[in-house]
Amino acid sequence: MAHIVVLGAGLGGAIMAYEMKDQLRAEDTITVVTKDPVYHFVPSNPWIAVGWRKREEITVNLGPTMAKKGIGFKPVAAEKVFPEENRIRLVDGSDVRYDYLINATGPELAFDEIPGFGPHGGFTQSICHIDHAEQAYAVFQQLLKNPGPVIIGAAQGASCYGPAYEFLFILETALRRAKIRDKVPMTFVTAEPYIGHLGLDGVGDTKGLLESEMREHHIKWITSARVKKVEDGKMTIEEIADDGSVRAERELPFAFSMMLPAFRGIAAMRGLDGVSNPRGFTIVDQHQQNPKHKNIFAVGVCVAIPPMGPTPVPCGVPKTGFMIESMVSATANNIGNILRGKEPDQVGTWNAVCLADFGDGGVAFVAQPQIPPRNVNWSSSGKWVHMAKIGFEKYFLRKLRKGTSEPFYESLALKVLGIDKLKETHKG
Ligand SMILES: Cc1cc2nc3c(=O)[nH]c(=O)nc-3n(C[C@H](O)[C@H](O)[C@H](O)COP(=O)(O)OP(=O)(O)OC[C@H]3O[C@@H](n4cnc5c(N)ncnc54)[C@H](O)[C@@H]3O)c2cc1C
Repeated sequence: MAHIVVLGAGLGGAIMAYEMKDQLRAEDTITVVTKDPVYHFVPSNPWIAVGWRKREEITVNLGPTMAKKGIGFKPVAAEKVFPEENRIRLVDGSDVRYDYLINATGPELAFDEIPGFGPHGGFTQSICHIDHAEQAYAVFQQLLKNPGPVIIGAAQGASCYGPAYEFLFILETALRRAKIRDKVPMTFVTAEPYIGHLGLDGVGDTKGLLESEMREHHIKWITSARVKKVEDGKMTIEEIADDGSVRAERELPFAFSMMLPAFRGIAAMRGLDGVSNPRGFTIVDQHQQNPKHKNIFAVGVCVAIPPMGPTPVPCGVPKTGFMIESMVSATANNIGNILRGKEPDQVGTWNAVCLADFGDGGVAFVAQPQIPPRNVNWSSSGKWVHMAKIGFEKYFLRKLRKGTSEPFYESLALKVLGIDKLKETHKG
């Protein structure tokens, strides 16, 4: 008999629990331990921040679904994991013991690394959590009343660039609809060395596509930017040259700013010898298994993935839904194998498939594998991306509410959109 604990119930952890449950033997048990009893669909947060979605439309109360599936559910945050003792201490002082632990705790948002940065007492907004997105919506309302300059982007060490571009263009669409776009100068500030790098050294023609969209929408940009500090209405940034020196320092005024932070692993998983890397991300092999503690697995944003290559300002690699699903399926099958006395043999594809909605259009890309040179290096734009993103939202939320465990992206992105055919037809 084995007890499997899934730590975290976000995009990765929730579907991890469903898929893992299907792999258990009759005598095994599974428990989800998570900070928040309610799931929020993070990819819809940019819509929350401009009022196109309300909280109740993108949330799922996980307790009843987990109970229906026969999955134990403990909505209490972890304080510390003790890998040598197979034990998790929770913030209420209780302990949870495990035979197998699957870390799915996503990112901790490193706002504190830049003075004045972020929504917790700083001056920039965030869309990484639904609470932040709601706060951003309140500030967006003020912008509608008192239009002024806007700065959108991603700070040094960020790894999630797609949502920064997404929010930039969604906000641009919302400002046009409100008929105040002419009063709002917009600048995109990013750690990326060029527009469309995305932490992946570009995919297909993302550079050309995104630059072109920005020109068409009168948006200026600053690349290789390091945010030095943020004050009320003023962001100080350094432009970094290829040799790492500061080429220029600039002060940018703003009435509204949304900047994505760098990510790190959660405190409960940081500083664990052989388990976490210096940023607190969990080290795994190709089977999603930690090499030192073989009963620890990890899926999602909390997994340690090295950067694509050196850039003047550090840029992380994105971990998107498709990739996370591939990690989840591999992990469920591998633990299922171990429970039956076999070796883990499933490998996640870790391919990057992303739909970036722009409000009335969008950009999609597929990178297989993530690191160039690639077999599929494809990008495209059009109104269909906006519709596909809505499809993603509806399908994923329905799947979570029903507790179904089949991989979503495989069926939507690869089959419905016909992206599997791109293997033969598109090359970068
Ligand atoms: C704004 C935004 C938009 C995105 N849009 C897309 C998109 O359109 N398509 C796409 O493919 N990807 C998108 N992504 C990337 C990625 O798919 C999401 O970040 C996704 O939510 C990551 O899933 P995850 O399970 O790793 O982490 P999360 O979904 O963040 O889940 C982490 C879970 O861990 C829990 N947790 C945290 N700390 C603790 C603790 N101490 N104890 C217990 N539980 C804890 C949290 O409560 C949460 O349940 C987006 C990311 C962002 C930030």
